[in-house]
Amino acid sequence: MAQPKSAFEIFRLLDKSNCQECGEKTCLAFAGAVFLGQRKIQECPKLNPETVERFAGVPVKGNTHEQNPGDRLEKLKSEIVHLNLAEAAERVGAVFSGKKLTVKVLGKDFSVDEKGNLATEIHINPWVAVPFLSYILYGQGLPVSGKWVPFRELTDGRDRYPLFQKRCEEPMKKVADLYTPLFDDVVHIFGGKQVDGQFQSDISVVLHPLPKVPVMICYWLAEEGLDSSLHIFFDETADRNLDIGSIFSLGTGLAQLFTKIALRHGFDTRT
Ligand code: SF4
Repeated sequence: MAQPKSAFEIFRLLDKSNCQECGEKTCLAFAGAVFLGQRKIQECPKLNPETVERFAGVPVKGNTHEQNPGDRLEKLKSEIVHLNLAEAAERVGAVFSGKKLTVKVLGKDFSVDEKGNLATEIHINPWVAVPFLSYILYGQGLPVSGKWVPFRELTDGRDRYPLFQKRCEEPMKKVADLYTPLFDDVVHIFGGKQVDGQFQSDISVVLHPLPKVPVMICYWLAEEGLDSSLHIFFDETADRNLDIGSIFSLGTGLAQLFTKIALRHGFDTRT
């Protein structure tokens, strides 16, 4: 059996009853999760044994770091044409108007139309465009729980955490150490909110890269004998509202943005 080329190829095999016996809200959400490697096709009890046998164990590459982000973006855009944008808007906390679905990404409007065309007030960069489309296509739209967890506690986060730490938390900490007004800038530029120190941190800021995927950045100042530290937390529902690869991409993309902000103020943290 050839590897499925899209979530819709998997969707076509399903019962389409949205019975939720697999634990997903819809058959489409289940197909997306299978395509992204988060679920196994045999977890749908309605499939006949022949189909399960043909597809079970087939490796899925829907969302690997190795995949070129540009290719992945084009693939996701092509899948939007099959999606009912009005229904999706309700699920993911977006607005549907003028045949476009719009969400706030870091406080700025980010839209997609029925043909997969993107429009935004900010530069369209794959690190944000891919998670945006993945969120709309496959996110379960669970309400934010308010319980914060580190990246490594999200599904499939443990193995990716060392790289997440290197590409996201470490560069952000460097910026915070050198350019202290960072957190004020982040609040003003990206519509963030400073919250009471969480986990006994000195500064805690919450951002919304996507409506139902908030990110909390906590920074601990250096103290006598102790280095400063910075850690990122996600809502415990994050891995069901967005695939782990996209969560990784949002974190590393934010780190790049912060590095650029510091550079604009004359602080080069890249060395
Ligand atoms: S159990 Fe199968 S048919 Fe039911 S919602 Fe899940 S994928 Fe669809």
